Amino acid sequence: MTFDLLIRNGLVVDGSGLPGYRADVGVKDGKIADVGRLRDGAARTIDADGLVVAPGFIDHHTHLDAQILWDPYGTSEPAHGVTTVVMGNCGLALAPVRPGGEDALVKSFVRVEAMPREALVAGVPWGWRSYGDYLDRLEGKVGVNVAGLVGHIAVRHAVMGEEAVEREATDEEIEVMRRLVHEAMAGGAIGLSTNRNERHFREDGKPVSSRLASDGELFGLCDVFAGANQGVLQVILGFNKVEHIPWYDALAKRTGRPIIWQIVLHSWNQPTLWREQLEAIAPTFRDGYRAYGLTNTAPLYRRFTLDNVQVFDEFPVWKNVMFLPRAIRNQALGDPETRQKLRDDFNTDRPVTFHRRWDLLDIIAVGKPENERYLHKTVADLAAMRGQDPIDAFLDACLDDPGLTFLTANGGDPLATGEILRSPYILIGESDAGAHVQFDANFGYGTVLLSKWVREEGLMSLEQAVHKLTFQVASIYGLEGRGLLRPGYAADLTLFDPERVAPCEPEWAEDFPANTKRMVQRSEGLYYTIVNGQVIYDHGQLSGDLPGSVLRGVAYRN
Ligand SMILES: [Zn+2]
Repeated sequence: MTFDLLIRNGLVVDGSGLPGYRADVGVKDGKIADVGRLRDGAARTIDADGLVVAPGFIDHHTHLDAQILWDPYGTSEPAHGVTTVVMGNCGLALAPVRPGGEDALVKSFVRVEAMPREALVAGVPWGWRSYGDYLDRLEGKVGVNVAGLVGHIAVRHAVMGEEAVEREATDEEIEVMRRLVHEAMAGGAIGLSTNRNERHFREDGKPVSSRLASDGELFGLCDVFAGANQGVLQVILGFNKVEHIPWYDALAKRTGRPIIWQIVLHSWNQPTLWREQLEAIAPTFRDGYRAYGLTNTAPLYRRFTLDNVQVFDEFPVWKNVMFLPRAIRNQALGDPETRQKLRDDFNTDRPVTFHRRWDLLDIIAVGKPENERYLHKTVADLAAMRGQDPIDAFLDACLDDPGLTFLTANGGDPLATGEILRSPYILIGESDAGAHVQFDANFGYGTVLLSKWVREEGLMSLEQAVHKLTFQVASIYGLEGRGLLRPGYAADLTLFDPERVAPCEPEWAEDFPANTKRMVQRSEGLYYTIVNGQVIYDHGQLSGDLPGSVLRGVAYRN
């Protein structure tokens, strides 16, 4: 056989978790045709000596529903080895939609997912009604594979109009919603998502519509997928609490479907919550039901100087002082009486998000050359070096050198993170790609896993990490024929150097509609990304080809 593409002499890490092995991979007609020592020729050959050849990663928590309409690669997904994205998370989708109902959906996306309104208005062509129509719009027009969850927010608006953000639904309305969910499933949706996060509002300050749904309504919609024995149910209830777990357990047992809930992360001010969550969900799995907690690979980072610091905003005295004009602020920060008020405010035992740990505030840049001795020290080190208490050391040093720049993470203890990432009850990945586009870019959750947690910290094997990014996701989401590197499977592949692969710092790009800006993220050490047998990403360059498929659920295929 002559292959379309032959990848020679790489280390095949096939997604199963089994040890990697040296082999060639032959691709024909978009599928993996053979793996091993291959003698046949090919139209194109890639030398993969020194590289890992793995199934493409599946980014299952994205909000690319709108972006994919103007950016068929969901840039920067291919730079991080992603070949399939799942859209429609957290209740948000662009279908179903009733005539005139489009703006209600835009309002929800703009606020909850912090997308520029001008980009959505200019970039979303609309014109569809059902979820299947929306998916049809993407057919033949995507560079990566796409699959979608039907969003409860859209379903509710399609039935109730603006009353969706004002009241509970009647039994008749719930029945119509069930019909729409059924129609979405028949049109190819691979699951349902909902959102009860008490922090999620629309642009106009009203709660997102799914927050007004009763359990009866929500369970009734989930039953549609359960009745067809297919689909995943993705839920977000809001502030992380171990008290939420019985609700996930109940939904898992009622439906028999995989539940995905948010979120399990180590945080410095609730340092045992992750363990309580994992212990609380274990009995669900032991009973034979599935309710996977979602985790991310990168803690939330904050970089700041005295001029743009926000981490102290939850301390009222600090906030008041920090918002003063610069000269007056500096005077206040130097004043012993104000200093004492700041100290008292900081040392209250009121619960706050900030970890209050000076040993976790790293100095990553300085303004004055004589301060270079502080570089890569913590504020606790700084206090010891200066013989001061940490608040005095921090403020005095910043007043003297406004260029002092700090970095802190709100969590990410390696021991805790290792246990979370390795848990069989945990699903990795919350890129939120397509959302919060002007705050951050986290396309690289997979490259963070491979660089920081596999290579640097040794928290899991390369094989286990690839498994978590590929076959585990494909299995839970029912993406058949994807996520493994085996003959007969789709040729969705990524090639990277395990010694060099890493994400880059997010950077600004001006590639959104209506000249709006957003953040993108490049990578290092990841050289090729291949979708359905076609190279779409080659050493930093996108090919321009659109080989992606719309992956639809069983109800559509049958
Ligand atoms: Zn989300």
